[in-house]
Amino acid sequence: MKIKIAKKAGFCMGVRRAVNLVLKALSRGEKPIYTYGPLIHNPQTLKLLEKLGVKIIRDVNEDVPSGSCILRAHGIPPQEKEKLSKKHKIIDGTCPRVLKVQALAKKAVKRGADVIIIGDKDHAEVKGILGFCKDKGYIVNNFEDIEKLPELKDYVILSQTTQDKNLFEKLSQKILSKYPSGEVINTICNATHLRQEEVRKLCNECQVIIVIGGKFSANTNRLAQIARNEGKEVYLVETADEIPLEKIKKYKKIGITAGASTPNWLINEVVDKLKSTSIFYIILKVFSFLCFVPILSFLLYFLGFSNFANFNISNFFLFFLFSFLFFKYNFFQLKTKDSLEFFYSLKNKFLNNHKWLINFLLIISGILVILSSLFIDLKLFSLFIIFIFLDFFLLKSSFYFISEILFFIILVFYFLGFNNLLLLMEIIAFLIFMRLYLELVYLETDGFLPKNFLISLCSFREDTVYKVLNIIIISGILLSFVLCFKNIFYIFLVLIWGWGYCLIKFLKKRPLGQIVYLENLSLTFPLLFFIFSLIYKIWK
Ligand code: SF4
Repeated sequence: MKIKIAKKAGFCMGVRRAVNLVLKALSRGEKPIYTYGPLIHNPQTLKLLEKLGVKIIRDVNEDVPSGSCILRAHGIPPQEKEKLSKKHKIIDGTCPRVLKVQALAKKAVKRGADVIIIGDKDHAEVKGILGFCKDKGYIVNNFEDIEKLPELKDYVILSQTTQDKNLFEKLSQKILSKYPSGEVINTICNATHLRQEEVRKLCNECQVIIVIGGKFSANTNRLAQIARNEGKEVYLVETADEIPLEKIKKYKKIGITAGASTPNWLINEVVDKLKSTSIFYIILKVFSFLCFVPILSFLLYFLGFSNFANFNISNFFLFFLFSFLFFKYNFFQLKTKDSLEFFYSLKNKFLNNHKWLINFLLIISGILVILSSLFIDLKLFSLFIIFIFLDFFLLKSSFYFISEILFFIILVFYFLGFNNLLLLMEIIAFLIFMRLYLELVYLETDGFLPKNFLISLCSFREDTVYKVLNIIIISGILLSFVLCFKNIFYIFLVLIWGWGYCLIKFLKKRPLGQIVYLENLSLTFPLLFFIFSLIYKIWK
């Protein structure tokens, strides 16, 4: 089964921005947090917001305690905004493209012109724009509405941003033919148009189309309708549970698209359900859900470092290290599993369904850590205790990642000797790079990330994280060049950073529904380091 996901599926820029504003307000610890009306047309995201304590104000006069109030992407009338601002701190999530339409309406009214909005009179965005028109605004949604218009002289025609382009053109031409002195400004958002074009293309390539999104979301239903018009079998689903896998399994090529309010974590769930028949995928999933990505990364960096230091690690020690890392990562993942529900629901479900197995593995790994450390060196046991306490202490802080770095430094100092500070710095840069990469993967789920993520220091701003990653890459490359003075072989480290840059470039394209693959892909970074260190060891 081949799955093709539309590139423009899921959150549009405006919805994403509004959801991120909630995420930032939550991470700042603001309380209480409200949204004026439902933030987006997606019941699953609204449910998560409710669990996070975000409440909905349905009426400006509602008697609720003062707090922070986030305005949704489609905007509200200025009169309501003013009323709300008297009681609450306003966080304006109105999409910049909607703000532009509001500004155009305001400008037209200021010069005395009338405003015709082509759109749905019950849609929040249209109501919001109308609020800027005073008594000079009219809504047109069909040809009958045109007949009801008064005599117009100076006027502008604007469109709801999610309006159908063909309908907008037909209606505006009709109005112009009746009252020729008007001005037409097409304010349809490109995101809607591109999404609809893409679903048409998808229909040419796939046998069946799955549209993910709220059953009452207008743009989701429009996408499903377009696919039906193209003669395709269409399944409009809100969650993965609604997918009739038995029926769909027989198709070779399945197309997936999603409405503008559908978060990527829901797309991930649907892809997961479709892939659940592939053994390769299941292995990758278990691998990633049992924390083998950070465990193996750590081990590969450590083994790579020991190869460069020409030091042979004993099997016993490796056994200790593996057991310790397995315990550390899985124990703390289990402790914070509730936060996974808000951005990585698949992992959360896995941990809940396999609680007994994971607890059993934790007990075994804990016993193995104790036994192996007793065999090698008692100091290792103290190290184990110290780092478990340190993790507990840092668990809720953005500096949680420091524990991993400290542990690496101590192991290097203690076992490999302090003989290559520059290489150690390079590996610390690798570790930070990988952490940020993984957190970016999680940020792309459009969920709500916990405060103990390193990227909370960047206020969960994607652009800032990309800048930081680029700075790390440049610093890493410079460091590699300095290392080359010591040994020209270190030039290979530049290649690893080059690969890191490719990973970031790929991630920037926002590949949807690929979370398990993206997590595992990060392992290529330490794997390359380890391979180069092996070549170095053999070459030496
Ligand atoms: S559809 Fe366009 S205008 Fe509407 S919120 Fe999304 S980006 Fe903004």
